[in-house]
Amino acid sequence: MVPPTTSASKPPRAKQRRGEGQWALGYREPLNPNERSKKDDNPLNVRARIENIYAHGGFDSIDPADLRGRFRWYGLYTQRKPGIDGGRTATLEPEELDDEYFMLRVRIDGGRLTTSQLALIGELSQTYARDTADITDRQNVQYHWIRVEDVPTIWQKLEAAGLTTMEACGDSPRVILGSPVAGIAEDEVVDGTPAIDEILRRYIGDPRYSNLPRKFKTAISGLPDVAHEIHDVAFVGVDHPEHGPGFDVWVGGGLSTNPMIGKRLGAWVPPDEVPDVWEGVIAVFRDYGYRRLRHRARIKFLVADWGPEKFREVLETEYLKRELLDGPAPEVPDVPRDHIGVHRQKDGLYYVGAAPIAGRVSGSTLVEVAKVVERAGSGRVRLTPQQKLVVLDVPEGEVKALQADLAKLGLQTEPSPWRRGVMACTGIEFCKLAIVETKARAVELVSALETRLADVVAGVTAPVSVHINGCPNSCARIQTADIGLKGQIVTDADGNQVEGFQVHLGGGLGLDAGFGRKLRGHKVTADELSDYVERVVRNFVAQREPDERFAQ
Ligand code: SF4
Repeated sequence: MVPPTTSASKPPRAKQRRGEGQWALGYREPLNPNERSKKDDNPLNVRARIENIYAHGGFDSIDPADLRGRFRWYGLYTQRKPGIDGGRTATLEPEELDDEYFMLRVRIDGGRLTTSQLALIGELSQTYARDTADITDRQNVQYHWIRVEDVPTIWQKLEAAGLTTMEACGDSPRVILGSPVAGIAEDEVVDGTPAIDEILRRYIGDPRYSNLPRKFKTAISGLPDVAHEIHDVAFVGVDHPEHGPGFDVWVGGGLSTNPMIGKRLGAWVPPDEVPDVWEGVIAVFRDYGYRRLRHRARIKFLVADWGPEKFREVLETEYLKRELLDGPAPEVPDVPRDHIGVHRQKDGLYYVGAAPIAGRVSGSTLVEVAKVVERAGSGRVRLTPQQKLVVLDVPEGEVKALQADLAKLGLQTEPSPWRRGVMACTGIEFCKLAIVETKARAVELVSALETRLADVVAGVTAPVSVHINGCPNSCARIQTADIGLKGQIVTDADGNQVEGFQVHLGGGLGLDAGFGRKLRGHKVTADELSDYVERVVRNFVAQREPDERFAQ
């Protein structure tokens, strides 16, 4: 990568005077405390302080700039003090919300785990995390109740097994999403795994890319099964009519409070060039991304201002020093695939997808899953972007027994549409930004719907996605759900301020990619949630046209 020296791509003068803090335009002085902290010390350096100082001195020895900033580069966030209700979230100082325990995120690029890695993750949870383990919608595993004293030992054990927490959070290149069925799906255009591995090898933990304007999310898949539309950068498998299998490049997607669908650059990239193009895109973001205001610092704002044509031109002329080939758009499925159920692999074995509720499992469950998977003759498991788990390489004769074993562990392979379609973020149990409870509510909702909607289940031909967020951020992708629920305090029928949700209806990815409509005043209290979802689903089933999807 060559550092940019451009004048051709400078923004209009009025914008320049004000300045967005873009390094490439000469704004190198930090314009906010986050930028200051990253400039004062590369966040990757915090690891040595954790190992040499904080793990010995305990929570009280931690420098606040590390605690609430640089710790994130190693997947560590302080968790929420128990007992603080959601109505107080916005009124308290960070130190009043901080517990002395941490959430620790293990990055699992492509969601790929061997059974021995899965067992280790489970055992570490049992020993150090009070048996907590959540499968996230970014194919990670999150622990809670971690003490800083234990972090170096956890790292040692994870790293000995080929796992890491490096750049699992922070303004850095985070976990790379990949198809859970990469390399084995019968209809895969191309396997994205080698590209993911090469990016990890070359760039993760590289100080050149550890101080970005904000987080940077990547998806690489030979199938449209990783929510590519809402990533900072995505490579989606497509067959080029002349050059064969490769990847279509998307940039500038993202959710949170200003959701945007990514834009196609119209460029086709052969598999072995993906790491170079990925580096070009992340370097454009590092150099031209907006650093003045945190809420405008994601790449989507730059892409929205520039447009995909200018983005591609800057990428080609200043960073890659060559033109990219034009290419076609990927085929998009009717309904995004979640890999639940039993499916044949291209080698004749089977993969089996199972659904915990909203990604909530436990260390003990994961240890047991590793055992039953090995008993079925497999050594490979995948986590999915829908908070689910897929077992690969199962011989046909072992499928039924595995399904039964997984079901005993609460992992159903033929789940109801509700169990299959519900996702939830961390919520008030552990998240300092949360306003409402989410995971426990997801469990209640699934159980209520399975009883109440048993009579209409035959009329629901595709999963109905219900995504539950604990605050206006969008960790559970509410804007892309059939029914998206954004946690907030609402007023109930008696005038009380209670936990509830703003409803977004009709979002989706795939063929109908678009964001759900936020209906003004369309709010529901948490206590009414099951009634509300039941009503919406019954109306949909009663009124829908044949083959109509919820998002239509
Ligand atoms: Fe926390 Fe809000 Fe993200 Fe949920 S959506 S995990 S409450 S920041």
